Amino acid sequence: MEPPLRLLLIGAAGRMGKAIVLAAAADPAVEISAQLNRGDAPGSAFADCDVVIDFSHADTIGDVIAACLTNRKPIVIGTTGYSAAQLGAIEQAATKVPIVLAANFSVGVNTLFWLTRKAAELLGPEFDIEIIETHHRLKKDAPSGTAKRLAEILCEARDLTYDADVTHGRAGTVGERPSQQIGMHSVRAGDVVGEHTVLFAAPGERLELTHKATSRETFAVGALRAARWLTGQPAAIYSMEDVLGL
Ligand code: NAD
Repeated sequence: MEPPLRLLLIGAAGRMGKAIVLAAAADPAVEISAQLNRGDAPGSAFADCDVVIDFSHADTIGDVIAACLTNRKPIVIGTTGYSAAQLGAIEQAATKVPIVLAANFSVGVNTLFWLTRKAAELLGPEFDIEIIETHHRLKKDAPSGTAKRLAEILCEARDLTYDADVTHGRAGTVGERPSQQIGMHSVRAGDVVGEHTVLFAAPGERLELTHKATSRETFAVGALRAARWLTGQPAAIYSMEDVLGL
């Protein structure tokens, strides 16, 4: 039998970190070789692992990339809320080590990505599009990384531009809705793990695609699957759709 894959978990004390510790304990193919939290000295943790998994905070990424490049380690990145500069640094690092960057590791959400692209292509520009996402009150970034990815997919399918055509909420006398606009709405409430709806509406009909996560286990199991898939891949940036072969 292959020895278990050794994982360095960054952000281990967080909600997702704890879910990954639990999922890894139930998976004989992996083991957590070290856990790092805010303020911990990494010591030899990067050198002594096979894959690094990061579910912490966007501002951690500079240090993680530097250590992974020094030690030539693949990275599974689940953290969201990166700036354009931070995303640029991730893309640059992916020319040297393999990286999976996924705003959402659930199989259901990655199927939602596929269905959203297909629906936008089939329904065409006659249908208005709105995205509604709901998360727990402690979430730090908005809109969610998953909602941003949905908007990117819709922009690609409709030949739109994220910065010009995605509008975040509405207030005041905003006037009639431009047909090419994509509305984005972030709800923050209670302990909701994560819900995403893509709404397509035209005169006389409405189609809604909705995914509801009821437990973080789905993200944790997906992140472990991504870690196993990533070992042996050449340096590049990969999505969860690549991991799942969608
Ligand atoms: P959280 O606030 O519960 O946990 C984050 C943890 O990271 C905390 O324990 C914090 O101390 C730690 N941390 C912060 N800075 C650090 C540093 N420099 N070094 C090491 N640890 C550090 O948050 P969460 O709900 O677990 O979410 C974490 C991230 O994962 C967020 O960006 C969230 O949006 C994202 N997320 C992604 C998915 C996915 O499927 N990709 C799913 C859920 C959450």
